[in-house]
Amino acid sequence: TVLADQIAAGEVVERPASVVKELVENAVDAHATTIDVLVDEAGLKTIQIVDDGDGISDDDVELAFSRHATSKITSREDLFRVHSLGFRGEALPSIASVADVWLKTATGKGAGSEVHIKGGELVSHTAGQSRPGTEVTVSDLFFNTPARLKYLKSPQTELANIVDMVNRIALGHPDVAFSLTHNGRELLRTAGRGDVQQVIAGIYGVQTARKMVAISGEDADFKLTGYVSLPELTRASRNYISILINGRYIKNFQLTKALIKGYGSKLMVGRYPLAVLNLTMDPFLVDVNVHPTKQEVRLSKEAQLGDLIDKAVYNRLAQENL
Ligand code: ADP
Ligand code: MG
Repeated sequence: TVLADQIAAGEVVERPASVVKELVENAVDAHATTIDVLVDEAGLKTIQIVDDGDGISDDDVELAFSRHATSKITSREDLFRVHSLGFRGEALPSIASVADVWLKTATGKGAGSEVHIKGGELVSHTAGQSRPGTEVTVSDLFFNTPARLKYLKSPQTELANIVDMVNRIALGHPDVAFSLTHNGRELLRTAGRGDVQQVIAGIYGVQTARKMVAISGEDADFKLTGYVSLPELTRASRNYISILINGRYIKNFQLTKALIKGYGSKLMVGRYPLAVLNLTMDPFLVDVNVHPTKQEVRLSKEAQLGDLIDKAVYNRLAQENL
């Protein structure tokens, strides 16, 4: 029902940045190599995501808007071995229940589809584009849930959240070419050539990227690659630390602490490094079912992973005679 979708939306879709996150993750899951994010008025007017991924077949396109109708999980075991970013089948129905959504999609086989859903109700479903890929346009977010609208912060803050979200997804997927445009102004463009340092340069600037060094580490369970700043380059907040597990941006206090521990006494009090840590592991070791937004995760062998990060940073700085 629309009401159930709106309740789910309360958890999945907190703000414009959550819409951007869910739609961009869907594009990544659909193997897109190019993802363009176009936002107007900090996402309150429109959010448009254009990808060149697999597309959705005409038979499935309405199903994609019904709750728990995910194409990504087919068994109970899958729930504990999540390879894709999405898997709950909640994002599209949630978003469509609180906004005006147009979805144009094509798989490259046969004609494409165009679906218009507003406030959870199907307005139209017609034949559409045939270029493979998907284009989702979300307008008038929260038009029917005024309480949500009131809860939003200033446009600058909402935009900052969107920028932050796209930056972090781009850092986790250097092989995908991302762009982010706000009110016609381009804020980010990545090349999609698999070079994390190029993505870092696109986000934080070339000078900053040059002051970061590659780290890596591996044990029986985990593989770590990434870039960290030398202690001369720090920031006053932890916000410049991005940790990604199997391409998903996550928040984890213990891992952040381990990263900082690797710097030992080389960081001044109240200063934090810039860092991008890309971790790969068997999905079995990470439980993403803690919260619908999947940002908080529970890790098996968290202490072991912390040690790996700590040592990788420590050893890399030692190489610089630090
Ligand atoms: P989930 O990602 O958890 O499966 P969503 O509600 O985000 O659920 O999406 C529902 C389904 O719609 C997905 O499982 C997928 O099959 C399809 N889908 C959504 N967005 C795209 C996209 N950009 N390209 C291809 N398929 C998509
Ligand atoms: Mg999804």
